[in-house]
Amino acid sequence: MKSRVFILYTGGTFGMKTSDTGGLAPSSWDEIIDYLPAIKNQTFFHYFSDIEFTFETLEPVIDSSDITPEAWERIAQKIEENYKDNDGFIVIHGTDTLAYTSSALSFVFENLDKPIVLTGAQLPIFHPRTDGIVNLSNAIYIAGHKAFGIECIPEVCICFNDDVLRGNRAVKTSTNDFEGFSSPNFENLANLEQNITVNSYLLYRRNTKDLRLLSNFSNKVVNVTIFPGYSPLSLIDLINTNKIDGIVLKTFGAGNIPTGKDWTRLIEACEKHNTIVLATTQCPNGKIELGQYESSKSLNSSIVIDGKDITSEAALTKLMWVIGNFTEDKRCKMLTNNLRGEIS
Ligand code: ASP
Repeated sequence: MKSRVFILYTGGTFGMKTSDTGGLAPSSWDEIIDYLPAIKNQTFFHYFSDIEFTFETLEPVIDSSDITPEAWERIAQKIEENYKDNDGFIVIHGTDTLAYTSSALSFVFENLDKPIVLTGAQLPIFHPRTDGIVNLSNAIYIAGHKAFGIECIPEVCICFNDDVLRGNRAVKTSTNDFEGFSSPNFENLANLEQNITVNSYLLYRRNTKDLRLLSNFSNKVVNVTIFPGYSPLSLIDLINTNKIDGIVLKTFGAGNIPTGKDWTRLIEACEKHNTIVLATTQCPNGKIELGQYESSKSLNSSIVIDGKDITSEAALTKLMWVIGNFTEDKRCKMLTNNLRGEIS
């Protein structure tokens, strides 16, 4: 069966070359495609002969450290414009912020019924040992599932090395390994070994409701990692002057914070100004359990949301998205709910 795949190139190491000033910078898609004979000619072993590709570039191409919520919105719009005409979507993206983008996009799309696959590379495709070609080829199998008789993964996911990870469960765990991403609290959606195995029991059921996009993100949020000796006074100041509407508070262990008076004042200020606290853990594995220790008692407030086992990237983008799209009365419930499989 034929399959139509839309590929959006945004930049990242995948397509980078050394610039005149000595650092890596992204090249244009025209330069890149010459290095992808199997995709360019489609006759190469006929592997991709049943795929009809559409290529687009999100201008300007960037190192993903320059990604913004506005760019997330533009990526989402490109996918929406091409949604009906394609069976799957690939976004080629820098690895540094890829897990933020995959988390953000997972919230943007409601009733998603087709795969949106993000991928990139640790070594540029111009390098003889690149991982870019295998990553993109794997992503094509997932996005072009119909052509290969593979089960549809109707989710925003990351395809990297031999893993397909739920987009809002993934974190970048290595700057060096080809296995650049992992999903600390959730199984792989699929494994790309010699055979491709999709873990059907993990997938969201496909639905027939119309695709809906909500793509506003608030920038009035902060991500605060507590450390021994940290004083929350400057945070209280930001709250009292209405500069922030939400905090991702990365607590110690299972949801613990220092017990001093300033910390009680912090939560009181949040309650007074309706500044939501999404409590998460600094540990890469496991979840928070508020109330287990005395030192989490001051977080016992309706303004504090239990982030459970959410990743930092998903917590931050969920908070930005909820504040950006919903009125104050709905926000706490939205943050508590498991919206796109981001929490257990
Ligand atoms: N700095 C690069 C980027 O995120 C790193 C990469 O793609 O691997 O765009």
